Amino acid sequence: MAGNRHVIGNWKMNVPEDGVENFVRDLRTVRWSDGCRLTIAPPFPFIAEARQRTSELRLPIGFAGQNCSHETSGAYTGEVSASMLALVGGAMVIVGHSERRTLYGEDDAVVGSKLRAAAEAGLVPVLCIGESEKVRESDRVAGFLEQQLVVALDGFPFAEWNLIVAYEPVWAIGTGRNASGDLIAETAGWIRRILAALRPGLDELPLLYGGSVTDSNARELMKEAEVDGFLVGGASLEPQKLKAIYEACASGR
Ligand code: PEP
Repeated sequence: MAGNRHVIGNWKMNVPEDGVENFVRDLRTVRWSDGCRLTIAPPFPFIAEARQRTSELRLPIGFAGQNCSHETSGAYTGEVSASMLALVGGAMVIVGHSERRTLYGEDDAVVGSKLRAAAEAGLVPVLCIGESEKVRESDRVAGFLEQQLVVALDGFPFAEWNLIVAYEPVWAIGTGRNASGDLIAETAGWIRRILAALRPGLDELPLLYGGSVTDSNARELMKEAEVDGFLVGGASLEPQKLKAIYEACASGR
């Protein structure tokens, strides 16, 4: 995978206001860096178009799914398998986003089965973990994150760089209340220790932060938060904001 830093834009169930073609065209002015990869996760039906526009303009943008099935094929109405996602040009897939956990009841075991399905199809899963406000206030954050990681990564077929972890505190997602750089740095330290205890070297995996990242806080967060990039929701639908976040990430800590 090119570079160890990542910005991943999660469009959720939205498309950019000016359409996919204009969105991609607006990214022509990005100052690309070899050390930082930009990936966009459109809703499934828009991946092919976004990919085509991107390759017409020769922009180094990768694509991800926002979810995948834990099964490979069969009678699972409404589901999309990881290998199907790979066929339409997906290189990554977001797994365990808090909206999937809360709205669709995905627990850590389900998240784990999706991670394995993604890896088996050759996709890099982006495992989202993060505590609710209640857990944050109760001071049980490290134990909570440990549980999410240990259960979800049980049986994961680790190979070089085939997993990205995104720390996304639920209380910061879509609220305009990003976690502070200090809080993210402290939590990122816990996550890296948990990962290293699970398997030596896992603390080297790219670790991203997500939760109300914008063009106005990305530079400061990149300096303070000790992470390797961002998972971005709302701001990823606006090309100028996404460009600024990418450039902040690429120019680094
Ligand atoms: C997300 O949905 O993963 C996310 C981080 O959203 P937002 O950037 O809008 O908080």
